[in-house]
Amino acid sequence: MTLIVQKYGGTSIGSIERIKNVARRIAKFQSLGYQLVVVVSAMSGETNRLLALAKEAQNNPNPRELDVMVSTGEQVSIALLSMVLIEMGVKARSYTGAQVRIHTDNAYNKARILNIDEDKLRSDIDAGYIVVVAGFQGVDESGSITTLGRGGSDTTGVALAAALNAKECQIYTDVDGIYTTDPSIVPEARRLRTITFEEMMELASLGSKVLQIRSVEFAGKYKVRLRVLSSFEEEGEGTLITFEEDENMEQAIIAGIAFNRDEAKVTVLGVPDRPGIAYQILGPVADANIDVDMIIQNVGHDGMTDFSFTVHRNEFARTMHILKSQVQPHVGARDVVGGDRIAKVSLVGVGMRSYVGIASKMFRSLAEEGINIQMISTSEIKISVIVDEKYMELAVRILHKSFDLDQVP
Ligand code: ASP
Ligand code: MG
Repeated sequence: MTLIVQKYGGTSIGSIERIKNVARRIAKFQSLGYQLVVVVSAMSGETNRLLALAKEAQNNPNPRELDVMVSTGEQVSIALLSMVLIEMGVKARSYTGAQVRIHTDNAYNKARILNIDEDKLRSDIDAGYIVVVAGFQGVDESGSITTLGRGGSDTTGVALAAALNAKECQIYTDVDGIYTTDPSIVPEARRLRTITFEEMMELASLGSKVLQIRSVEFAGKYKVRLRVLSSFEEEGEGTLITFEEDENMEQAIIAGIAFNRDEAKVTVLGVPDRPGIAYQILGPVADANIDVDMIIQNVGHDGMTDFSFTVHRNEFARTMHILKSQVQPHVGARDVVGGDRIAKVSLVGVGMRSYVGIASKMFRSLAEEGINIQMISTSEIKISVIVDEKYMELAVRILHKSFDLDQVP
């Protein structure tokens, strides 16, 4: 028998009506001869509700207690789905992460899965049960409940698929796959039949919110076939996330365009151009636990240079404060300036490895629309630019068109 893991997100199980819909799909797969392990998230809005409630109790909620609390959303979902299945005459049994023994480290609120005891699940599966597992949670060595970070149910699904050697992990969500870009900004955006893991990793880290990035990482590492589909459509193949060496892959040069408004840019002006300067500027920022994204150091002239980087927009004020109060006096910089009205637009595609001229075409397209590029960063399979936030949507539309992303390759 073929085993598949299906994961249903919060909107897919947002009401009893929707849970019944999901249960019918599960029953259909079972009647086709599949064995199923089903992972569910909390019902839509529930995790946010719990987080807000915790904040009322404690300004900065205790991390361990917060996990005890937010993990309850998924516990409700597994029981509800199992009840609905049983009511339909389908054998089902639910498990929390701790009951399965999804072992994690003890980094509360963002724990990592270490290993999974699959014995209990296997015997239930063999006995014909649909096994319903709570996403987003696990248990640490000391027996405390942990959670895996927002969107973590995706990772639970992939990890179970890896542990059980499932044929495929299907992520059911409210969109019917991965698109060339967000269709709410570019109506011509096209669903991709396939995308490589590397491209998906880049898109997830650059702002696409469809999959938790850790789940993609996990799937890549353990070679889990991952598919994103809509729970609101009867049919549809969704998007298969695949390995580059797979045959019959859609050979697009560019897979998609990601964007995000979560960035802010800071520049330290007029710093002495000498060894150690980057460390002296970024050291205090790292010590404050602030993630730095793009970094640019200008060519020095007259012994001086300018140094720019981007951080998450939520960290903008803190970063400016650190630079002005600690770094500027220490390195003798002329000034510190910055702005948080910027956005990052990125082009992603494995085809960049074998085609030249992608970057120049990107820059030309933006220039023709008069969009100024403030910063650029590249990797083997992506080119990102920082532009003024007000041109972000225009930039995405222009690039989508100039790279013909609305056409099937
Ligand atoms: N319920 C959790 C969240 O809202 C986990 C998940 O949905 O994947 O982030
Ligand atoms: Mg999600």
